[in-house]
Formats: sequence, C-alpha cells, structure tokens
Amino acid sequence: MAKIELLDQNTINQIAAGEVIERPAAVVKELIENAIDAKANAITVEIKEGGISFIRITDNGGGIARDDIKVAFLRHSTSKIRSALDLLHVSSLGFRGEALSSIAAIAQVELVTKTPGELTGIRYVIEGGVEKTMEEIGCPEGTTFLIRNLFYNTPARRKFLKSATTEASYIGDIIERIAVSHPNISFKFMSNNQVKLHTSGNGNLKDIVYNIYGREIASNVVEVNGSSENVDVYGYIGKPIISRGNRNYENYYINGRYVKSGIITKAIEEAYKSYTMSHRYPFTAIHLTIPGEFIDVNVHPTKMEIRFRNNDEVYGMVYHSIKDILAGKELIPAVTLVE
Ligand code: ADP
Ligand code: MG
Repeated sequence: MAKIELLDQNTINQIAAGEVIERPAAVVKELIENAIDAKANAITVEIKEGGISFIRITDNGGGIARDDIKVAFLRHSTSKIRSALDLLHVSSLGFRGEALSSIAAIAQVELVTKTPGELTGIRYVIEGGVEKTMEEIGCPEGTTFLIRNLFYNTPARRKFLKSATTEASYIGDIIERIAVSHPNISFKFMSNNQVKLHTSGNGNLKDIVYNIYGREIASNVVEVNGSSENVDVYGYIGKPIISRGNRNYENYYINGRYVKSGIITKAIEEAYKSYTMSHRYPFTAIHLTIPGEFIDVNVHPTKMEIRFRNNDEVYGMVYHSIKDILAGKELIPAVTLVE
C-alpha cells in the first residue's frame, strides 16, 4: 500500500469543485447568490459561448474589503456563519464557503470590488487556485466577477459540457428562477451581447411572471395566499388551462431560495390533480416563508435540497392554500382581447 498523505489545497479544491460546480449554470447560481447576500438590488449577468469561455456578474452590493479578498477564496471561508450553531437559522443563501474556492480552482477568475468606505477598489486575479495579481483600481461600489475558461485545467469535466446553446439555456433558466425568487432585485441577463432578460426589480411578483413567462401565463394565474403558525404561503398558480406536460414551470421558493422538495411538489400536484388531466403539471411561482429553525438547507453542496422539521405543516399549508383557491375560482381562461 502507498503511504497515506493529505492532498494539497489545490487538489482538495478541485475535487470539491466537482460537487459544487457541475457546469457554467452552477457558477452563475453561486455568484448571483453571493450578490444577493451582499444586498445588491441590481445584478447583471453576461455570458459568451454558454458561459464556458466567459461569465461576468456585476452587482451593486456591499463589496469585499481588501483584507478579506484572499481569505474569501479559501475553502470553508465565509462571512455568513461563525459556527455550526448558526446552521440552525441560516438567513443567507450561502453559508458553506465553497463557491469562490471551487470556481477559482477550475477557472481563470478576475474580481473587481469596492466597499462603500473605500476610495479605490481592488482588482484581484486568481487562476487555477494560483494568485496572479492584486492591485488598486478605480471602480464603482459593488463587485464584478469575471470567470474565463471554466474547466480549462480539468479536461475530463469539460468534456461533459453540452453545446454552448444548451449551456446558455441552463443559465437562462436558473436566472429566471432566481429572478422570480427576488422580485425586488433587477436582473439583467445578456448572452453573446444580446439582452435575454431584464426585470425591473419593482417588487411585484406578477410583473415578473409576465416579464418572464409572457402574457398568456400571467393572465391565467390566480393568487395563492395562506398562513399557519410557522408557514406563510404567497404566490401564483396557473389555471388548469395553462397546465403543461412537464414540471419545468413548477417553481417554489423557501425563504427566497429556489429548491427542490418532494413534499412540496407532491402537495402542489395533489391539490391540482382534480382540476386537470393526469400527467399535466401546473405553473407555480410560490414563496414559502418558514422560520430558519424548522428547515435544514445543509443537505447537499448545491443547497438545492431542503429538509423540514414540520413536514406535515408544510405539506398541509401548500396543499390547502392551492386547493382552496382552485375550488373557489372560476377556472375558465381569462379573455384576451384581440386588438
Ligand atoms: P459563502 O457564500 O458560502 O459564504 P463563497 O465562497 O460563495 O461562500 O463566498 C465567500 C465569501 O466572499 C462570502 O462569505 C462573502 O463574504 C464574500 N463574497 C463573495 N461574493 C461576494 C459579493 N458579490 N459581494 C460581497 N461579498 C462577496
Ligand atoms: Mg456563496
């Protein structure tokens, strides 16, 4: 047997990156989450070639202080929790401190950032985990991450990427879902210099549904509302007339986080079932607000899975708020006037 040795940091980061960063869309998701956590209210995402060669994310959030920059790129470094106890009430989207170290291990990263207190900003370049440049630069408050040549040093990973068009569509998809999760943030998405999405950030969920999914869907949704002791439900569900043959339009969010949950999917579909044919799925944009101590988001590195301490309450609230509204509604499609 060979001698047992601890891997070097860079190798550790590359291995970890395999879990967090599967494809360009994961980079976009992680960096947008960071911008949201930094309290940005305008976030721009620009990509080229499906994000494989170029992803730039600009926010107007709080920026990263000069002294924090190097630390931010270390694995398990975070400003969002201090101990395992804080996992009981995570209120930020990030908390694992893995995104920046992972991305920097497998791409060429340039960061330009300025905090409100500083006169000048900092430009920091790190490639394949190796620091290249750290210099002062004039720039606006907030943060810009430029990620070039994802997986350039992990060819096996790169081979698994799909075509640029497909990768771009994954990115568009995740941005749309996040935009619906934060109606108060203006999102702009550009692919190959073309604007694909631009939301106003005016806080109105229905406006975003209209903006992203179009008039037919926006004029055929009904508002869902309800609350129990620990669960608030708010959002929109599509009338059966706009039900679909797949689950792509089933979106729900817990405390502003886009997640997948078997319990919520089931509650939605069971409530919807008697109003539509089998194998038809609803459009939903539903926000749940649940106290942090009832949920565990530390289930998977991508933070897309979630566990509830109050499964029955969550299921019941989602089920009943949808069922009640559908039962009471005239479900014929809204009349759209032909001009
Ligand atoms: P996490 O989000 O889990 O804390 P990350 O690796 O994504 O870990 O980021 C590390 C740290 O870098 C964050 O905790 C945050 O303090 C800082 N950071 C990252 N992106 C931004 C940003 N856009 N604006 C301000 N701070 C940021
Ligand atoms: Mg993060």
